[in-house]
Amino acid sequence: MPGIYVYSDKMKQAAALIGLAAQSGKEVCCITMDSNQAQELKQYGPDRIIILNGNSPLPENYAESIAQLIKKEQGELFLVASTVRGRELAAKTAGYLDCGMVSDAESLVFEDKRIISSRLMYGGSVVQKAVISQLAVVTVPAGNLEAVQKENAQVSIVSLEVQADPRVRLIETLAVKKDKIDLAAAEKVVCVGMGLDKQEDIKMAEELAQVLGAEIACTRGIAEERQWLPVESYIGISGAKIKPSLYISMGVSGQVQHVVGIRDSKIIAAVDSNEKAPIFRAADYSIIGDMYEIIPLLIEELKNA
Ligand SMILES: Cc1cc2nc3c(=O)[nH]c(=O)nc-3n(C[C@H](O)[C@H](O)[C@H](O)COP(=O)(O)OP(=O)(O)OC[C@H]3O[C@@H](n4cnc5c(N)ncnc54)[C@H](O)[C@@H]3O)c2cc1C
Repeated sequence: MPGIYVYSDKMKQAAALIGLAAQSGKEVCCITMDSNQAQELKQYGPDRIIILNGNSPLPENYAESIAQLIKKEQGELFLVASTVRGRELAAKTAGYLDCGMVSDAESLVFEDKRIISSRLMYGGSVVQKAVISQLAVVTVPAGNLEAVQKENAQVSIVSLEVQADPRVRLIETLAVKKDKIDLAAAEKVVCVGMGLDKQEDIKMAEELAQVLGAEIACTRGIAEERQWLPVESYIGISGAKIKPSLYISMGVSGQVQHVVGIRDSKIIAAVDSNEKAPIFRAADYSIIGDMYEIIPLLIEELKNA
């Protein structure tokens, strides 16, 4: 029963991967270890859902079972969402399958006998294309893909008893202490860059964010070098990827490693004193000038609007 197998530990991304795999026109089999997730995923219309029943809470411990299943059914592709757990599972499964792997494919084009994958490299300045013509594992940053519901889908759900790899065990789970930031879901974002002179000037950005109803974000240097905002606040290739309706930057030069994280924003507005700053190439609205003059004026205007 050749086809495409998909997995994500996150419901939304699993649903999005089903839609991506369906573009191939081949059978789509969704793998899960969670029977509740299986019921929810039905509405996205994969052809099959296989629930792996094992004795481990760690998805990566099912890599060998998944590889055996794909081998047995002569599957063609295993698509995995690039979550922390997903990446781990993907790499192990590719190892057990002894097949090639593409990491973080931004797009997949399904052709008759091959798949063309594209991924960004070198901080987003190069697009690497790979041709997949035999069994492979591909991880996909599925956060930007939209899931599509399928009405009246006929989905077969089966449970499979499997032996999870016992060598890695979960001893304890502790919550990461984070400030409440969900930049990926933010509708509006105000982003501060190294153009900011002093930490206390973040108040100016906070005031703008408050009148706009926006979240505060920053570039990597603000979070990692100056430690003025938590690391969860920085946007870019190694930080958060955002897709708000509005992104406003202040004192952000717009290097490619940052812009990779903002390019799905609907409107990009930038304030920078350097007219040659690369951010202006990505911006829909460019304001060249000193943010210490412009931002207070903008706040005043918005308050009176
Ligand atoms: C492997 C790698 C991964 C990276 N990942 C990321 C990432 O995920 N995210 C990220 O952000 N960076 C990342 N970086 C760093 C990135 O290359 C840039 O160095 C960084 O984005 C620059 O941050 P910035 O724009 O805040 O600072 P700068 O480049 O220093 O820009 C500051 C800007 O402020 C302007 N300015 C100064 N004063 C004012 C004023 N008064 N009014 C208005 N404008 C003013 C300047 O004209 C300038 O354009 C990465 C780098 C590497 C090598």
